[in-house]
Order: sequence, then C-alpha cells, then structure tokens
Amino acid sequence: MGFSTTGLHPSLIDAVTEQGYTEPTPIQAATIPAILAGQDIMAGAQTGTGKTAAFALPILQMLSQAPIAGTGRRAIRALVLTPTRELAQQVYKSFVDYGKHSPLQTALVYGGASVNTQMAALAGDVDILVATPGRLLDLIGRGAADLSRVQHLVFDEADRMLDMGFIDEIRRILKPIPAVRQTLLFSATFDAEIFDLSKSLLTNPTLIEVDARNTVASQVEQMVYAVDADRKRELLSYLIGSKNWHQVLVFTRTKQGADELASEMCKDGLKTQSIHGDKSQGARERALEAFREGAIRVLVATDVAARGLDIDQLAYVVNYELPYNAEDYIHRIGRTGRAGGSGIAISLLSPAENYLLEEIETILDSRLPQQWLPGYEPDPTKEVKRPRNASKGAQKKRARERALGQKPGKKPGQQQGRGRR
Ligand code: AMP
Repeated sequence: MGFSTTGLHPSLIDAVTEQGYTEPTPIQAATIPAILAGQDIMAGAQTGTGKTAAFALPILQMLSQAPIAGTGRRAIRALVLTPTRELAQQVYKSFVDYGKHSPLQTALVYGGASVNTQMAALAGDVDILVATPGRLLDLIGRGAADLSRVQHLVFDEADRMLDMGFIDEIRRILKPIPAVRQTLLFSATFDAEIFDLSKSLLTNPTLIEVDARNTVASQVEQMVYAVDADRKRELLSYLIGSKNWHQVLVFTRTKQGADELASEMCKDGLKTQSIHGDKSQGARERALEAFREGAIRVLVATDVAARGLDIDQLAYVVNYELPYNAEDYIHRIGRTGRAGGSGIAISLLSPAENYLLEEIETILDSRLPQQWLPGYEPDPTKEVKRPRNASKGAQKKRARERALGQKPGKKPGQQQGRGRR
C-alpha cells in the first residue's frame, strides 16, 4: 500500500524512501495514523518491527506542522526516553535520518559521555530530545534541560526501563512535563507492572498490537540443543566453525561469563569480543563497529548491553545460557530476523535449565523441540544443579500469569526428542 496512505507529508515519505523503505511495517501502518490523530498509544512491538519509525515519523510531522510558540530559543517539544545508550543512539539517528528534509533539531543525551558537550547541545535549539533516564535527570538537576514545553512523550522499550529499575527516575522526570501532552508507550512485552505504569502515564490509550502478545517474529527459526553446561563452549565453537556462521551474537547472563566465554572462543580461533555494562562506552562502540564490519565474528553480550543493538541482517543469535527472565528470551531473539529478514535463534540448554525453557514455552505458548548433536549428548549420570537466582524467574512468571489472568503454576509437560539437524 506504500507510505502514502499513512497521512505522512511527502518530505517524510521521501526521507523513508531514501532509507530504502517501500512499505510501512504492520506496527507503522497501525500506529502512524493514530499518533497523527493525537491519541495516546500503548503499543506492543519488539525491536526489529520498525517501531522507531512508527513514533519518529508522526512526531516529526506534528512538530513540523505546529507553530513554534513564543520567541527566542526553541523549546524541547518531544522527549523520547530509552533504557540504554545504544538504543538512544539508534533512535537519535532515526530522527536525524527521517528529519533530514525538515529544519527540526534533535539532541541526544546519555550516560558515559561528556556532560559538558551535552549541556552545550541543550543550550542551542532543540525540538526533539532522545535521552536515557539517569543522565536526563542529572541534566534537569543542573538546570540544563527544560521539559516544561514537552508535548509528545515516548517511552521506548518501557518493559526494559522497568526491569532496569528506572521507575523512580521516570517519576522524577515526569514532574516538570506538562500533564496535557501526548504519551506513547512501546514495549516488547506486557505484564502487570507495565499496565500499572500505563495507568499513571497515559490518558485513554489506544492499545495497538500487531503480533500476538509476547510472541516472536515468525521468521525466526528457534532451535534448542540439549548439552551439558561444561560442554557448551565446545559445542558452540563447533557449530560456528562447522556451519560456517558469521556475525553470531551470543548471550550470557553475567559480565564475567561474557568475558570468560569471549577469551575461550578466541583460543578456539574464533575472533570474539564481549560487551557489557562494565566496558566503557567507547569500548562497546568499537566492538559493535568491528562486529558490524565483520572484523570480529562473534560478539558475546549480556542482556543489558545488547538491548537495542541494531545490526543489519543479523542471522544468528545464540542463548549460551537461557535468561532467568523469560521475556529476555524474546528480546534476545528479536536481534535476528529483523524487518523482514530471516534468522536462527539457537539455545544451548543444560539439564539444569529445563525449568527456564518451560517458562519461555509458557509465555510463547508454543513448544521448542530439543535436539542433540551426536557427540554432545547430555550425560544422564551427571548431577543437575539448578542455577542460583532460580527463584527470580519463577517470581516474574507468577506475576506475568496474574497479569495475563492465568492460573499460576500451570506448566506444560516436558518434551524431548531428536529433531531437525
Ligand atoms: P526498529 O524496530 O525500529 O529497531 O527497526 C528495525 C529495522 O527496520 C531498522 O534497521 C529500520 O531501519 C528498519 N525499518 C524500519 N521501518 C522499515 C520499513 N518500513 N521498511 C523496511 N525497513 C524498515
């Protein structure tokens, strides 16, 4: 149907055409007209669905059309909050790319970079501000960010913002923002916490969901290899080498685990780097760039560090360890199969992680068949140790079940079988 039916201005359609987009994605087709009509939106959308353009395009249009109030310096009229620096950078870039034919100015503020440079940027004309919560609060405290004229407020990846414990920052950021405004909340997953937050932030929101709630993009093939924990690294190196995988994003649960795995993979002859919250912003960006360019083959990341990574046509995502929080599985595998591309998500499952797989299958509402690679079958005589923190996933699960109105404790039966190879 093309972008012309979305109600967007020809200059914005030109800008997206220059990006190579020909058709709006389903989330764009659903949200753009509603946002242009001024509605508050609560949208279920994962990274990779085109959700950034879904809010950036209509905001650019509304700001271009609205008269700029008063004289003197232009005020921040749209604020986008994101959980991580990487996502903030991507959202910023999208506003700049889509807004290239408009005079609107976008600024970016996030932690880990010079506060003075960001203060200088905010001292100029800024129409749109993209920010992570902690640094924005710091800048508000310094009197450098005036939010008193914000008309459009966006929460991007709201579920992750809550998971990262940003609720207090969010409440404090909201104080100077006018109550009469348009609020748009995007979240990959919905649970009771998100609904609670939405009640206090949004006015009569329109709920938009393009995919069934808590499902993954259908073009992602999900595979589960059962293997003993102490043989996972060996199996992973074997799979990457024998199947000739390139640009493999691997998830670990901990920063230390990411570093250790990266150094072991290097010893196996695979160019690997790790990114996590203890690495400097510069080091994370350099690793990401090397991965994008193909200079490194494997990037090992923690959930927080990987959030919002936008790497074109990422074909392979590996869960080296299953996440404690089942929703993280959806976020992780959302790195692949982006915007129409196809991808493979591989999970390495140790016997101790079976209960985590069951939680994931519960929220996906589908079974993930397991397979073994000959030579790497789990040893049934080994003792199964449940990982520490095991109760956190169970707690979250119960909360989720309550939110979805299910009876807590209902688990699907276990399924094992030699499957596809
Ligand atoms: P997002 O979900 O916002 O992270 O976007 C995922 C990827 O899809 C980005 O690389 C965008 O550039 C791309 N994208 C967004 N909208 C479209 C579209 N209508 N057609 C093709 N690609 C798109």
